[in-house]
Amino acid sequence: MPANGHPVSFFENVNINFDKASRYTEHPKGLLDQIKVCNSVYQFQFPIQTDDGYEVISAWRVEHSHHKLPTKGGIRYSEDVNEDEVKALAALMTYKCAVVDVPFGGAKGGIKINPKRYSVPQLQRITRRYTAELIKKNFIGPGIDVPAPDYGTSEREMAWIVDTYMAFNPSIDAQGCVTGKPVSQGGIRGRREATGRGVFFGIREACSIAEDMKKLGLTPGLEGKRVVVQGLGNVGYHAAKFLQEGGCVIVGLAEYEGAIYNAKGLDLEEVMKHRRETRSILNFPGAMNIPNTSDALELDCDILVPAALESVITGANAPKIKAKIIGEGANGPTTVEAEEILLKNGVLVLPDMYLNAGGVTVSYFEWLKNLQHVRMGRMAKRFTETSYDQLISTFEKKTGVHLSADERKRLVHGPDEVDLVNSGLEDTMIVAYNEIREFKHRVGCPDLRTAAFASAIDKIARSYLELGIFP
Ligand code: GLU
Repeated sequence: MPANGHPVSFFENVNINFDKASRYTEHPKGLLDQIKVCNSVYQFQFPIQTDDGYEVISAWRVEHSHHKLPTKGGIRYSEDVNEDEVKALAALMTYKCAVVDVPFGGAKGGIKINPKRYSVPQLQRITRRYTAELIKKNFIGPGIDVPAPDYGTSEREMAWIVDTYMAFNPSIDAQGCVTGKPVSQGGIRGRREATGRGVFFGIREACSIAEDMKKLGLTPGLEGKRVVVQGLGNVGYHAAKFLQEGGCVIVGLAEYEGAIYNAKGLDLEEVMKHRRETRSILNFPGAMNIPNTSDALELDCDILVPAALESVITGANAPKIKAKIIGEGANGPTTVEAEEILLKNGVLVLPDMYLNAGGVTVSYFEWLKNLQHVRMGRMAKRFTETSYDQLISTFEKKTGVHLSADERKRLVHGPDEVDLVNSGLEDTMIVAYNEIREFKHRVGCPDLRTAAFASAIDKIARSYLELGIFP
C-alpha cells in the first residue's frame, strides 16, 4: 500500500518494476515512456442470447507495443477481467517476448465471463463474436495481432477463432492468425505442455548453478527439492509433472477449493485422478487438508510455484513464505511490496516474464509452421537418419564394434516436430536464464526481475532506435 493509501493496481505494479529497471539503462525519458504505454486499447461490448433473454458481454484487446509485428498474447476468460489487468498482461507480453528473443510486440485480450456458467454452444458464440469484433477493427491477423490461450481458454477456443477468421479472410497465411490451436487445425505438437515445460527448464537451470544454490543453503540440482504448486491448470499441472519427473518431491498442491500437503510427497497423477473422481483435491489419502487455499503459499518447501493468477504473494503473506525459490508460473503473482520483503529474506525469485515464456516461445514456432506451411522436421528427419545410419555402419566396419539393434535405433533417430519444439524450447530457456543472470552481474541489478526488465527495455529501445523513430 503506497503513501496515498490506494492499493497499487496490477498495471501500476508492472510500471513500478519498469521504472526501477530503467535506471539501469541509459535511454532518454521520452523513449522509455513510449515503451511503457499501451499503444492501442480496444474495449467493446456485444450481446449474446441466453435462456432468459440477452446478456451484454464486456471484452478487451490491448496491443501494448508495435515495435515488432505481429503483436502477441493470450485471451483470458474470467469474471475478474478488467482493463487494468489486460493492460498489465499485454505489457508483460512485450517484455516477455524480448527476454526470450521472440520477435513480437506484446498484446492481451480478455472477456469478462465465468466460462463455467455458460454452455459450450454459448461459449462458441461468444468466442466467434469476439473474433468478429477484432476483425472489424483490424485487431487480429497473422501479421497484425495473434491471440493464444490464457487463463480460462484452451485449444477449443483457438479452433473457433481460426475458423471465424478464415471465413472472413480466406488467405494463404490465415492459419497464423492465432496459436495454441489443436494440431488438426494447424497447431504444433508440444504447445499445450510448453509453458509448464518452460517453467521446469527454467527452474532446473537456476538450480544447476552451484554458487547460487549455496547462497540459499541448497545443493545444486533438482533431486529431492521439495515443491509446492499453486494452481493445477495447464501451466501448474505440467510444471508439477515435469518437476516430479525431474527428481523433485511435490509436497503441496493448491486449487481454489483448498490445498493438500504431504512432507513425504504427493503422486501428481493420483491427485489428478482423485480430483476428477471427487471434484476436489481435498481428502487425498495420506495428505493433510489445508482448507484455506492461500495458506498453501506459506507451506514449508524449497520451491514455490504460483501458477494461477496475479497478486497472490503480497505484503501480508510474503514475510511468512518459507520457500527459498519462487518460480513464477503465473503472470504477476508477486506484488512489488511482497518482492521487497522476499529479497530482504534472501529468496530467489525467478520472474514471470522469463519463467513462463515457454508458451509464447512455442507459439512462435507454431506461427512459423503456419507461415512455412510445412511441419518442422518433415524434410530433415529421414536425411538425418540415413546419415547417422551410414556413419554407424562405417564406424562398425572400421572398428569391428557392433551396436545392438536397440542402440542403433536410438542413435539414428531423426527429429520429429515435437523433438525440435522441445529442444528449441529447452535452448531458449537455458540461453535466456544465463543472459539475465549475466546482465544482473554486469550491470549490478539487485534481482533477476530488475535484470530481466532492464535487458528487455534495452532490446526494445534498440529496435525503436533502429526504426529511426528516435534519431
Ligand atoms: N497466454 C500465454 C502467456 O501469458 C501465451 C501467450 C502466447 O502464446 O501468445 O504467455
